[in-house]
Amino acid sequence: MKTPIQCKLCGKRKRFHPYAERKFAWTCNQCKKARQPKTTVVCASCGRTNTLRASCVAKHDYYLCGPCDKNNAYIHPPRADGMVRIIDLNAAGGFIGFTTRMATEEELESVEHAKAIKEAASGMLGFEDSENHWIN
Ligand SMILES: [Zn+2]
Ligand SMILES: [Zn+2]
Repeated sequence: MKTPIQCKLCGKRKRFHPYAERKFAWTCNQCKKARQPKTTVVCASCGRTNTLRASCVAKHDYYLCGPCDKNNAYIHPPRADGMVRIIDLNAAGGFIGFTTRMATEEELESVEHAKAIKEAASGMLGFEDSENHWIN
């Protein structure tokens, strides 16, 4: 015997197999989609906001909007020795995400390496890691 169960949000009915009967609180796919949590990211420089689905936002310490990142007016918080700044160009729909955290051994080596390159060829800002983040 299949038992019809109502979506607790829109009331749509669906029949479940007996093994699913204890699923008395059920939400249909449409309602689930509509209820996906949203997140608002705020540009740390100009205060512009961007609201998008939480699953589309990578978590970072702070964000800058595209124009603010380009005009470079924002003064980033100081970075202690042994810390790296992760720059995520695709953090949140046109916003760039920044995270400062302790560097891993590997990154420290890479930073040293990047510094060496920087000294050799000026104008180099950082390097790209395997996840397409810039580390500076
Ligand atoms: Zn529903
Ligand atoms: Zn901005």
